[in-house]
Amino acid sequence: MIIQSIQVQTEIFQLKKPFKTALRTATEIENVFVYVQLEDGLIGVGAAAPTLAITGESKESIEAVLKNVITPLLVGKDIRNIQELSLLIERSCVANTSAKAAMEIALYDALCQHLNLPLYQFLGGSTNRLKNDMTVSVGTVEEMVLDARQIIKDGFSILKIKVGKDWAKDVERIMAIREKVGNHVAIRVDANQGWTPRQAVAIIQELEQLDAKIELIEQPVHASDIEGLKFVKQKVNTPIMADESLFSPQDALRLIKEDAVDLLNIKLMKTGGIRRAMQIADIAERANIPCMIGSMMESSVSVLAAAHIATAHPNIQKIDLDAPLWLANQDFDGIEFIGDEIHLSSLPGLGIQRRLSKSIR
Ligand code: MG
Repeated sequence: MIIQSIQVQTEIFQLKKPFKTALRTATEIENVFVYVQLEDGLIGVGAAAPTLAITGESKESIEAVLKNVITPLLVGKDIRNIQELSLLIERSCVANTSAKAAMEIALYDALCQHLNLPLYQFLGGSTNRLKNDMTVSVGTVEEMVLDARQIIKDGFSILKIKVGKDWAKDVERIMAIREKVGNHVAIRVDANQGWTPRQAVAIIQELEQLDAKIELIEQPVHASDIEGLKFVKQKVNTPIMADESLFSPQDALRLIKEDAVDLLNIKLMKTGGIRRAMQIADIAERANIPCMIGSMMESSVSVLAAAHIATAHPNIQKIDLDAPLWLANQDFDGIEFIGDEIHLSSLPGLGIQRRLSKSIR
């Protein structure tokens, strides 16, 4: 089954409210979509989210790499050689992981439609349900407490709190939320590289003394500071998770070898696609390191791919896929968000129908 043509299209999505982390504030997002058409007319779709602050990719760079670098390698190839095609994408250039992820997601979607299987079944999973969390943007204590209470009212029992922008107030922010939501709510804290190793240790030790019951601390220190991650991990009892420090399977091997973290956060936009995401989950499983799967500010197409992987891999134990719920126009396709649950369609591939009917046919 030959790949006949590939098209690239960018769309802009408004957010319901600004998404704020220690690294950036977003009010709208651009996603670059890839459509891979097979010789029998089936179309697979993938998407990339430009996140300059994390992957170094812009809309323009993603479009250029997809059109000029990766597409020429794939047109005319047999979709059934998915592992080989993944390697072609991986080796097409260094970095550019979001562009690579978009194309690889589209290939998997097309292949699974050809095989008439949902992606999660192709990857070896049988369930199509996941329990999601919801993010509280960094802001004033009052704003964050209000947000947190609304999220709990909306049916969530896991909060992901963004901090790290103003370290001296972070304990106050977290404790204010903990006191308002009660102990039955799980709290994940993401500092997005915002603390120094010493600040991180001081903050986390204080939270431990205050019995804040934090499930995990994500990326406390700078992405390149593996020594810093290790320092923090050694000094505290709360589990430490790598996010921006983890892109590739090689990064996973290094973080594990250095004993720098307790958990890994996999995102397709960092790994460069599904194959390498599964490799990281495999490597981590062998080291008894559980994984979370998360996303950038992405629309539902690439989040769908992440959700399919999560249902299929036993070592992906935590889900952080709330990004599509931030979109003003929540026109979901292949995925339903019901309270804190994600339900995947059992249609072939990613299960997307509406987008394909109005896209390039
Ligand atoms: Mg993070």
